Amino acid sequence: SNRAETLEFQAEARQLLQLMVHSIYSNKDVFLRELISNASDALDKLRLASMVDKELEVDTSDLHVEIEVDRAARTLTVRDNGVGMSRDEVVQVIGTIAKSGTAELLRKLRESSDSGARQELIGQFGVGFYAAFMVADRVELVTRRAGESGGTRWESAGEGTYSVESVDEAPQGTSVTLHLKPADDEDNLHDYTAEWTIREIVKRYSDFIAWPIRMTVERPGEGDETSTETQTLNSMKALWARPRDEVDEAEYNEFYKHVSRDWADPLDIVHMRGEGTFEYEALLFIPSHAPLDLFSPQGRRGVQLYVKRVFIMDDCEALMPNYLRFVKGVVDAHDLSLNISREILQQDRQIQVVRRRLVKKILATVKDMKANHAERYRTFWTEFGAVVKEGLIDDTENQGTLLEILSVASTNDPAEPTDLAGYVGRMKDGQADIYYATGDSRAMIENSPHMEAFHAKGYEVLLLTDQVDEVWIERVGQYDGRTLRSIAKGDVDLDTEEEKKEAEAEREQQRKEFADLLTWMGVTLADSVKEVRLSSRLTTSPACVVGDAHDITPTLEKMYRAMGH
Ligand code: ADP
Ligand code: MG
Repeated sequence: SNRAETLEFQAEARQLLQLMVHSIYSNKDVFLRELISNASDALDKLRLASMVDKELEVDTSDLHVEIEVDRAARTLTVRDNGVGMSRDEVVQVIGTIAKSGTAELLRKLRESSDSGARQELIGQFGVGFYAAFMVADRVELVTRRAGESGGTRWESAGEGTYSVESVDEAPQGTSVTLHLKPADDEDNLHDYTAEWTIREIVKRYSDFIAWPIRMTVERPGEGDETSTETQTLNSMKALWARPRDEVDEAEYNEFYKHVSRDWADPLDIVHMRGEGTFEYEALLFIPSHAPLDLFSPQGRRGVQLYVKRVFIMDDCEALMPNYLRFVKGVVDAHDLSLNISREILQQDRQIQVVRRRLVKKILATVKDMKANHAERYRTFWTEFGAVVKEGLIDDTENQGTLLEILSVASTNDPAEPTDLAGYVGRMKDGQADIYYATGDSRAMIENSPHMEAFHAKGYEVLLLTDQVDEVWIERVGQYDGRTLRSIAKGDVDLDTEEEKKEAEAEREQQRKEFADLLTWMGVTLADSVKEVRLSSRLTTSPACVVGDAHDITPTLEKMYRAMGH
């Protein structure tokens, strides 16, 4: 029947609409994102339906979204030629909110008076279609379900009721017309009839929507005349959703520059897809140089989150650990709310699973670089090594891989850093431990008296000069069953059993000879040192100061002092 009726919104829907009409959400621009996202979903659904049901009489030759503005009437229309809705569907999905947790959300909203917290809640929930009521005081929707002949017209001012009637003629798909509230800077209501504003919003939030988003714009023509032309506002390049072998390197590089605002090509590309219960695509890049803010706490993280081609947020920290903060790119997760908050993301189990996979894949990529592309790996390590080492402190799960991709300077070859496996391969007979020295500079370490005995023995020493080195090496403790031992701490045991016996006899002799001197020195230096003893570490220097095995090293001591401890 064509009968028109006026129906009431379901109670929860009414409450949510109230919140929209009175606009508790400050970023009103996102209404367009929501409408475009729905249009894009409808196009996806129609494409799928036409593939599944060959009998379905629909035109899928030019699926697109269209934005139309009438400046005089102050209306904005978002139109798609997608799957559309039947009259029942309109009543069901637009008039009610079936989402679980609605009641709970509304209760929390009522209880909260803090506007930030309220926005956060609304953000988690995702208001979808109702976001239109943030910017419009009346919304009309005309739709025709694919395969049906008649359409449905729906209209509401977002208060308690809506009207719905059947119409004979309606184009395939859905059009949503907003009767816009007056622009109001104070209320963050931009002029949504302005071409520039619309362009900006589409570019910002919907650029990678896989369907064309078109708008007919006026352009000055000959003399007084104006001509119109239809333009596509989005680039549509959802590169991450395309199979790897269909994307060429230039496209990857262009996309990288777009997401990273970098001017150089990336060093490496990770393009992956997760299937199963939680679908996602990830297109990640390892830059070829470190950004200036790499060590600044306010520095930007690279990864953007999309939900089904719709931009959700920049700097998505839930997707990348801090020590991989230089990684850029996009993760498109299919089953998340468009308005999911950062806090919720951090706790989301599936996001945690995705993050673990991404981390493993990036580390595997670096490992492969190290094995097969030495030059690229060298660049990587020079630029990002100091950051990646932070992972050895807090990512115990990937410690093994991190230790494999690590490289450090060593006394073995001044020009060539080594990895730990290389060090172990060169260990001398009878050498039990891996030796390292830390300090501000390589020259300083190499000239330190602690080095002498190691030089004399021909033992290789790792030279660690990054601040983070002190911390990770303590945390890691061992590699391949061998202790990582500082040459500046405790009793360093460099000798074999036989040598030890000889040395012990010799030392006993020396202790007797020097007993008086040692006692005198111990008393004289009592305020500065714990003990004075003869050492086997030095070959040419007369004396050196060493720490107890559990004392902090000089660099750490400096670091703590600088931090005010
Ligand atoms: P969501 O998109 O998260 O489902 P929305 O509030 O944005 O929530 O939309 C509610 C429902 O209305 C959609 O699930 C869809 O069934 C229907 N809908 C909205 N816009 C359109 C459209 N342009 N074409 C077809 N159906 C639509
Ligand atoms: Mg939606």
